[in-house]
Amino acid sequence: MTQAPLPPNAVIGILGDGQLGRMMALAAAPLGYAVHVFGPSPHSPAAQVSAFNTVAEYTDQDALARFADHVDVVTLEFENVPVTCLDFLSQHVPVHPGLKALSTAQDRLLEKTFFVEHGLEVPPFAAVKSLEDLQTAVNQIGADGVLKTARFGYDGKGQVRITPNTSLPDAWNSLGQASATYEAFVPFEREISVVLARGLDGNTAVFDCADNVHRHHILHTSTVPSTISDHVVENAQRMAEVIASGLDYVGVMAVELFVTTDHRLLVNEIAPRPHNSGHWTMDGCLHSQFSQAIRAVAGLPLGIPARHSDVIMTNLIGDDVFEAAQLAQDPDVCLHLYGKADAKPGRKMGHINRVVRPS
Ligand code: AMP
Repeated sequence: MTQAPLPPNAVIGILGDGQLGRMMALAAAPLGYAVHVFGPSPHSPAAQVSAFNTVAEYTDQDALARFADHVDVVTLEFENVPVTCLDFLSQHVPVHPGLKALSTAQDRLLEKTFFVEHGLEVPPFAAVKSLEDLQTAVNQIGADGVLKTARFGYDGKGQVRITPNTSLPDAWNSLGQASATYEAFVPFEREISVVLARGLDGNTAVFDCADNVHRHHILHTSTVPSTISDHVVENAQRMAEVIASGLDYVGVMAVELFVTTDHRLLVNEIAPRPHNSGHWTMDGCLHSQFSQAIRAVAGLPLGIPARHSDVIMTNLIGDDVFEAAQLAQDPDVCLHLYGKADAKPGRKMGHINRVVRPS
């Protein structure tokens, strides 16, 4: 599909009103676009920096119809937008990424099946729709695994670690008996991610791999360049391109992978939107992941994804935000706060990019 670039002052609609939408809106401004944020929260991080804002539920068809009338294209920053919402909007206005990408990313079983169908390796897994399924899966795969709800999981929520000592009925009940996947626990050497942009013309711009470290299931740091071998990096980037093209993807997406001790790459999951592990691009690249996301959906050519600086991105979670002023004293630190009022535990309040200058 080709499309003439949106003209200056066109309005980009964003579904979702969190920090990713905020950083997309900030990136849209220098490209000459206004942003209309659609989401459920008043005074949201994204609305604070956007020209237009609709506060409504994603199921509110009247609000969606008015939104569709007002915007030139729709994208999203939150993958749990109901597909019915995207379906409705796409009858009125171009929507990127599309239904296929969103519905695949929303369901771990569909997602893993898609990876396998595209020749990509994933941890051994099985669908679990009942306690009996779970028992069978554990018998087949082994009692060293992770039970994950098929839908609505994030930052380790909706997951239970299974070991030989785990009571399977307790594990099954703790996830509310929701449709799930059981997968083998991967004793990975490290976790990496690839963030890429894909344009309307199918061209891609693939950022460097980041080494990711999680704490309490939440991303703590992303470091570029990854210290893994170039060969593994290139393979991971190729896998991300296979996924993006298989989904007819338009916009920015992230692919999270496990690297095993014998250097195999297993795909964990994708995010159909800019990703926390791509925040380093804001200060490490000429064009950040947010700028690329806007370019892609606006039909502009993608910018070069080359990294000009090494970066360590660190999330500011909960009370960490109170150290922001102190951290900003370091002249090599770029501070990005999200404008959230309450520093609740586990809440992503901002991040810093420490740019590592050659000594
Ligand atoms: P997810 O929601 O699937 O991204 O999982 C959150 C985090 O849990 C991952 O980033 C890993 O650190 C860990 N994790 C998830 N699945 C597995 C697995 N199969 N083996 C080992 N660790 C896992």
